[in-house]
Amino acid sequence: MDFRFSDREEAFRTEVEDFIKKELPAGWTEKNIYWPGGYGTLSEFEEANPHIEQFRHQLAERSWLNISWPKEYGGAGRTNIEQAIFHERMSYYRAPGGEVATLIGGPTIMLFGSDEMKKEWLPKIARGEARFWLAYSEPNAGSDLASIQTRAVEDGDDLIINGQKIWSTAAHVSHYAWMIARTDPNAAPHRGITLLIVDNQSPGVTIRPLTNICGSQSFNEVFFDNVVVPKKNIVGEKNRGWYYVMVALDFERLVIPIGGFKRTFEEITQYTKETKHNGQSLSQNPLIRNKLAEMAVEIEVAYMFFWQTAWMLDKGLVPNIEASVLKLFTTQLSQKLANTGMQVMGHYGPLERESKWASLRGRVQAGYLDCISALVGAGTSEIQRNIIAMRGLGLPRA
Ligand SMILES: Cc1cc2nc3c(=O)[nH]c(=O)nc-3n(C[C@H](O)[C@H](O)[C@H](O)COP(=O)(O)OP(=O)(O)OC[C@H]3O[C@@H](n4cnc5c(N)ncnc54)[C@H](O)[C@@H]3O)c2cc1C
Repeated sequence: MDFRFSDREEAFRTEVEDFIKKELPAGWTEKNIYWPGGYGTLSEFEEANPHIEQFRHQLAERSWLNISWPKEYGGAGRTNIEQAIFHERMSYYRAPGGEVATLIGGPTIMLFGSDEMKKEWLPKIARGEARFWLAYSEPNAGSDLASIQTRAVEDGDDLIINGQKIWSTAAHVSHYAWMIARTDPNAAPHRGITLLIVDNQSPGVTIRPLTNICGSQSFNEVFFDNVVVPKKNIVGEKNRGWYYVMVALDFERLVIPIGGFKRTFEEITQYTKETKHNGQSLSQNPLIRNKLAEMAVEIEVAYMFFWQTAWMLDKGLVPNIEASVLKLFTTQLSQKLANTGMQVMGHYGPLERESKWASLRGRVQAGYLDCISALVGAGTSEIQRNIIAMRGLGLPRA
């Protein structure tokens, strides 16, 4: 077993790091309050941020939005381990880049899309011209996703969509919905669902903002009123959408800001070295040292899970229970890290970033609120435990 990167991988890691340090606006990493695993602190939602657009454009020019895709589809033709190396460095610097189309929709199209669909969509995604949002959840369909009610009815070469989606992260700053809709109401719930791509600009689409726990807009509710979608936008076969979405969810659960955990942990550790309480450095306090040591171990474990899933993708396997393990473990880590930050900072912890007494720019306060969403989005912790129990351990359905 060799845990080192190859020379080629090391060289790529350095190239990525040099690029980020050169191109990311000065002070970005320190100022950006993004909490690893959170949804509400994503800087991407600060609308019309020219730095984000410019940075994404530069990534697209280097074929780095989709590093592991073949060159013919606009990728860099590199391995999934190299893709993971890139993702680790990007998240360490809290750099903007990946989103639903590049990390979830594109890989799913690569597996299940027709040749025409691949030719049409993959290069567009790789150029950063087609950003997706996930249109799965509905007011009465979250964990029980098979009970979705949004309908797609055939009309010649088109489908007509009616229904409502909710918790639609980044719908307001994306171009297309990556959507599931019911196409056969008479079939068993998961057998009559179709996966399709819907243009946000289509007449009949209404996007309404929802305010998140951090007080900003990261998600929305979206209404579809007789929206016309060409049938060529169906991914794979009609009525087989459920099976494709289960794989897409595995891809989603692999999207872990792994470097962000390390960076935030380093900042909290540094804070304990620089801050005194009753004349003694916080880093000398045995309870704090204990907590930090525990976090250090858990972050290393998360890294192991992370590299394992990238390695599996390079072997042509789609991590399934591994994706659920990674998602469950790292979202709990997100919460533990926020709790540790609060405990370390004491009364200074809950101060918002506007306060002159706030440390780390109020990151811990924002993260403490935001980390809750990580345990819910992309399937709750209970659902991940069910998947691990049933598919991983072969236990019967509860
Ligand atoms: C910040 C955020 C962003 C999101 N972004 C998106 C998005 O972009 N697109 C999208 O489509 N959706 C999105 N979601 C929706 C998310 O996927 C759902 O909230 C999630 O799947 C849970 O569904 P629910 O809210 O209906 O809760 P419910 O399914 O009603 O669950 C309520 C509670 O019951 C538990 N529970 C339910 N069923 C079981 C079971 N079988 N066994 C044990 N416990 C169970 C759950 O774990 C949970 O604790 C987002 C959610 C959040 C919070």
